[in-house]
Amino acid sequence: MSDMNSLKSYLKKLGASKIGFADVEGLASEFIDLPNAISIVLKIPKETIQLVKDENYEEYWKNFHGQIDILTDIALKGEKYIKSLGYDAFGLTMTRNECDMKKLLSILPYKTIATKSGLGWIGRSALFVTPEYGSAVALGAILTDMPLDFGTPITDSQCDECRNCQDACPVDAINPQKWNDRLNREDIIDIETCSEYIIDQYKAGLGCTKCMSECKLTQEYLKRD
Ligand code: SF4
Ligand code: SF4
Repeated sequence: MSDMNSLKSYLKKLGASKIGFADVEGLASEFIDLPNAISIVLKIPKETIQLVKDENYEEYWKNFHGQIDILTDIALKGEKYIKSLGYDAFGLTMTRNECDMKKLLSILPYKTIATKSGLGWIGRSALFVTPEYGSAVALGAILTDMPLDFGTPITDSQCDECRNCQDACPVDAINPQKWNDRLNREDIIDIETCSEYIIDQYKAGLGCTKCMSECKLTQEYLKRD
């Protein structure tokens, strides 16, 4: 088996739902000068999404942080595995890839790596969307100099005429404009309105994940056996 395929099956064994490979030459210079990236997609379990529907946010956040711990574990073990093959690697954990909570933006967005890997696209909601799990996913990544066969980047939304997330948003933060990689995030979502609402909800022990749970493709995932 090639190094790339053995890495893929190793990451899957650790729990990754989807793995992709992207050229990120120049994008990772904030961390380390590594030109390639491995995108890790972890599906959010159906029971966790049910907690949102039940408005049991205390349990939801516990489960969600559990998902982040799994992603961190996969990224760090993946880093070690790649190094054992003789290449350099850097697990892009959340602690290393700090998120500005006001802008809701990491230094190197996982969504950028995932769309460049061809694993999905950015929905009207500005969330990353996969055909299999909708936007019910959490994302991680590893940077490396290991040679990889890159996926075909997705540069345009595949959201068709659906507007479920837009209709579900309680503060009208989602614009009708569909994503493509030539737009800025502000063109598709009013991130200030969204983040202010989320922070207020969080302070009240609640949350807002309506655009994730009501996404048409998330709903299809929930109905599938
Ligand atoms: S998280 Fe909530 S407030 Fe923000 S865009 Fe989604 S539905 Fe709207
Ligand atoms: S609800 Fe529809 S428009 Fe919104 S992200 Fe999901 S598929 Fe796209």
